[in-house]
Amino acid sequence: NAPVLEVKDLVKHYPVRRGGRSVRAVDGVSLSVGPGEVLGLVGESGSGKSTIGRCVLRLTEPTAGSVSLGGRDVTHLSRRALRPLRRDVHMVFQDPYSSLNPRFTVGQIVAEPLRRHGVARGADAETRVREMLERVGLSANMRTRRPHELSGGQRQRVGLARALVLEPKLVVADEPVSALDVSVQASVLNLIADLQRDMGFSCLFITHDLSVVEFLADRIAVMYLGRIVETGPTEKIFAEPQHPYTQALLSAAPEPDPVRQRERRRVVLGGEVPSPLDPPTGCRFHTRCPVAVDTCRTDEPRLTGVREADRPVACHLVTPSAVPDLTGRN
Ligand code: SF4
Ligand code: MG
Repeated sequence: NAPVLEVKDLVKHYPVRRGGRSVRAVDGVSLSVGPGEVLGLVGESGSGKSTIGRCVLRLTEPTAGSVSLGGRDVTHLSRRALRPLRRDVHMVFQDPYSSLNPRFTVGQIVAEPLRRHGVARGADAETRVREMLERVGLSANMRTRRPHELSGGQRQRVGLARALVLEPKLVVADEPVSALDVSVQASVLNLIADLQRDMGFSCLFITHDLSVVEFLADRIAVMYLGRIVETGPTEKIFAEPQHPYTQALLSAAPEPDPVRQRERRRVVLGGEVPSPLDPPTGCRFHTRCPVAVDTCRTDEPRLTGVREADRPVACHLVTPSAVPDLTGRN
């Protein structure tokens, strides 16, 4: 049973004009998403997570490594050969305004993938558009509206309808709620969760906010400066984060249980995320890691299942019997 998405040793470097250097946006990332699975890809801005999403959709060409969809390596397929595969993979963007063509009506926007792939036209397409709008919680008479007449939440529902109208196997959602008002974020997230359950698509859900994926993702991969530093099943990551960076991210998230909240120390990371033009030597996190030791400055830790095979972590201080404990959570 081939994974729906498999990314292997992906590298994406962007050359910069002066100095012959490059921005190392993604620097050797492997991940996979199984049938019906949701993988939350989490990291601060500049960690490379959006670049991975763009490489999966071939919106940008990887420097090295491979992307496979349904077991087929698509890394070097021509645009033409890619076309039929594009039916199965769709993207939901962060900004639902700039990603919708302002001159088209909602009906035209949602019908466009049906037309482009020759799936349905005319009355047939119209029926499917109505059904799809209903599934995302919009009334059928929204069909004649244009994007500027809609609220941010309605626009993102239109973006979802467009992404899902072909019933894709994989949806790449890049920060789909972070541009929305806090008051509508939860309703759109719940909608995505319901649609995912009903339609069964696999999802690569990209976000800077760990709390957003807690109830949506089956597994989580945490990125820092172009690398995955920890990955595993969501409940395990939340119950016992191993990597110091994951612990810091989680310590900033609200804790509903007041007892646990009191017992837990909040980790505030010093400094900025270093430039991906010049990532630190050794462990890339060492310039901000509160428990770094000498080895961390020289040796790069490998992402391996030190304690459990299903949750690899890249940190010298994680051993079979202990993890660094920054928050009092472990
Ligand atoms: Fe911190 Fe060292 Fe672990 Fe990196 S390898 S996270 S610097 S302790
Ligand atoms: Mg981004």
